[in-house]
Amino acid sequence: MQIPGHIDPVTTGTVPLRGGNRIDLVGLSRDAIGGVLVEAGMDAKAAKLRAKQIWHWIYHRGVTDFEAMTDIAKAMRPWLTDRFVIGRPTVREAQVSSDGTRKWLLAAADGQEYEMVFIPDADRGTLCVSSQVGCTLNCRFCHTGTMRLVRNLGAGEIVGQVLLARDALGEWPKGTMAGFGADPEDDDADDDAAGHYTADGRMLTNIVMMGMGEPLYNFDEVKGALKIVMDGDGLALSKRRITLSTSGVVPMMARAGEEIGVNLAVSLHAVTKEIRDEIVPLNRKYGIEELLQACADYPGANNARRITFEYVMLKDKNDRDEDARELVRLIKHYNLPAKVNLIPFNPWPGAPYECSTPERVRAFSNLIFKAGISAPIRTPRGRDIMAACGQLKSAATKPTRAELDRIAEEKQAALG
Ligand code: SAH
Ligand code: SF4
Repeated sequence: MQIPGHIDPVTTGTVPLRGGNRIDLVGLSRDAIGGVLVEAGMDAKAAKLRAKQIWHWIYHRGVTDFEAMTDIAKAMRPWLTDRFVIGRPTVREAQVSSDGTRKWLLAAADGQEYEMVFIPDADRGTLCVSSQVGCTLNCRFCHTGTMRLVRNLGAGEIVGQVLLARDALGEWPKGTMAGFGADPEDDDADDDAAGHYTADGRMLTNIVMMGMGEPLYNFDEVKGALKIVMDGDGLALSKRRITLSTSGVVPMMARAGEEIGVNLAVSLHAVTKEIRDEIVPLNRKYGIEELLQACADYPGANNARRITFEYVMLKDKNDRDEDARELVRLIKHYNLPAKVNLIPFNPWPGAPYECSTPERVRAFSNLIFKAGISAPIRTPRGRDIMAACGQLKSAATKPTRAELDRIAEEKQAALG
């Protein structure tokens, strides 16, 4: 999509279909599923009912085979199988960190690769989801930003990550569906479609749009995917358990709040124009004041639902006491319901920065806490498998400094 007010640097073709000539239903809204059924020749009334049933099987039960849809007439299932698929991304590689973090390298139907990460904690399990293959932006501390090729992920490819995580964690409900009985129009449907349904305690409780890519540069597809993830008759994750992180695409922030309504995280990382221009080049387009004003205007933010400011700790770059004080001043000046997340810099091959010392990070955190603003230090997770924040990159190569500079220049030029 074209982002109002500037030239969208993302140029992508249409997302290829996973099922060849067959249409992949993952990522379509309920109405859109009805629409493709009608296009395939089903009458509108039947299509509406079937779409509801199919939706439930895909998103509530994790089914990928029409033959397993026991409340749909046996005779109808091959008709569906001939025309449609319920796809999953291909898993190229699955790794597990010594701390339990898991990372999957996934491939789309066109071979493009992207990553997702699952971070288990005692009280929650967070899936870190990618929105693009690579990123058109080029934050200097971020590995993903060094990828040259970029394509938006489709809604199906985004929601597909959540479905795949549920598969891998064995988290689809066991048993059959209570209250979702056999097809009333079909004598032939299996009778065991009713009863014995149980929803297990789940590991996957939270989703963060913090994988590869800038989600607000792929607004429509991210919105479509998150609407599906939040739908009550399916994955049913509450908007309070979903966080979208942006590097500061100001023109899209209000729409994100109004139309998606999830928690907002903002990759601030610096409090002066000079430093933020350098490390988050998008700042040259949308400056700190504009960004913080957009945060102040973010619909739905209040003290119970605060905006998270992410702040990567870079040695001798953005980690001085005066940076912490300025951060506090800015948050107070804009009267923001905010918390700060301090992220120790995660290294990657060829990265031009080092992480601040643990003492420096603690001192920085303390200064912010003393001003009455929460500023926990994020424990790095999955560093041994390159799964920590900012380490994702689908092809692990070590570019030379000159190559990194060239990529940065190209992306800056594309931004205009
Ligand atoms: N593109 C979005 C979503 C990515 S979220 C955004 O930038 O907000 C990933 C978070 O990790 C962002 O806050 C990002 O700035 C941060 N990050 C990137 N590289 C990092 C690194 N090497 N170490 C620590 N954090 C990093
Ligand atoms: Fe893109 Fe976010 Fe990485 Fe910046 S930090 S390059 S916006 S993925």
